[in-house]
Amino acid sequence: MKTFVVKAFGTEAPEADLKQMNIERREATAKDVEIDILYCGVCHSDLHTARNEWHRTTYPNVPGHEIVGRVTKTGAGVTKIRVGDLVAVGCMVDSCRECGQCRNGSEQYCEKGMVPTYNGREKYLNRQTFGGYSERVVVDEDFVLRIPGNLDLAATAPLLCAAVTTWSPLKHWETGPGKKVGIAGIGGLGHMGVKLAKAMGAHVVVITTSPSKIEDAMRLGADEVVLSTDAEQMKTSANSLHFILDCVSAQHDINAYLKLLKVDGTLVLVGAPEHPLPVSPFSLIPARRSLAGSTIGSIRETQEMLDFCGRHNITADIELITIQDINSAYERLLKGDVKYRFVIDMASLKNPKPV
Ligand code: NAP
Ligand code: ZN
Ligand code: ZN
Repeated sequence: MKTFVVKAFGTEAPEADLKQMNIERREATAKDVEIDILYCGVCHSDLHTARNEWHRTTYPNVPGHEIVGRVTKTGAGVTKIRVGDLVAVGCMVDSCRECGQCRNGSEQYCEKGMVPTYNGREKYLNRQTFGGYSERVVVDEDFVLRIPGNLDLAATAPLLCAAVTTWSPLKHWETGPGKKVGIAGIGGLGHMGVKLAKAMGAHVVVITTSPSKIEDAMRLGADEVVLSTDAEQMKTSANSLHFILDCVSAQHDINAYLKLLKVDGTLVLVGAPEHPLPVSPFSLIPARRSLAGSTIGSIRETQEMLDFCGRHNITADIELITIQDINSAYERLLKGDVKYRFVIDMASLKNPKPV
């Protein structure tokens, strides 16, 4: 199979910084779309993966799964997308297409394993997939999304992971009017969760460790804020929520959050810290509470979410960075110092400013 070389930013070891490198992309096959990447969001999963915190990273690793760009080439069999279209790619680029989950439109739960946008395995070149911290990407049109024309492009990039990862469980667990929904951890995912849950009509309660985010939480759409480090506030809020979306990236006491749920309430983990989170049976048993998990969203859900965001004028609150800033951006992410998503202006990779 023919390939071409593009510039990318990636890492060669868990403890190494990200640096510029060259990677190969396949030439577009009949069903493929070639995309010139304009913006790429920075997800905490990029950091977990680059540093091998989930113990399954293949190096070299090029992260990035919140991609927006312009189509530069289409294969002969592409029907839904044209050269020049503004499009997006999220966390998956392929799946088996045959299993029950794929047939039923839940490719993210493909029984053979979906192909993540980076650190997956692509069948075409039989090697790892490389993500959006790169000049161009080649993706099957079935995994390419359309962007509503009214949304700011850079602020749309984080919708491709941060928003769909919160949208999918908010929908699946039927949150909306009449439901009290807690969103824990106001980073990239959490701040999108607040905006989406509010737009869906739920009563939104932010659960944060950061007093500095209280005012922002209300601006983002929260009806109430609970400071999880304040034992009194946590006690007052016990047994009050129908649902909690836990978007926390680091170790935390999940039992304290579970106790905020009413009888039959559910806490869904989307945050994926490096180490296991101990759960006391007594956080669940006395109120028949459930603990669940959820991964990203299907292609259909991603498109529905993008269209919803178009109708409601919802995008992420972002700080635009250059690719050369990525290592310091990761350090700031670890300190919770981002309001609320870094997005890389990919022009900085194509035309770096002289230092
Ligand atoms: P992020 O922007 O870094 O936000 C994480 C937030 O967690 C922080 O802003 C902070 O919020 C809170 N937090 C951090 N350390 C904490 C601690 N020790 N105790 C309590 N709260 C703490 O990260 P993100 O990009 O939103 O990603 C969040 C997590 O979701 C990551 O683990 C990521 O890998 C995972 N993820 C999962 C999926 C999926 O499909 N399930 C998809 C994407 C990402 P406050 O300041 O408000 O406390
Ligand atoms: Zn992500
Ligand atoms: Zn499948």
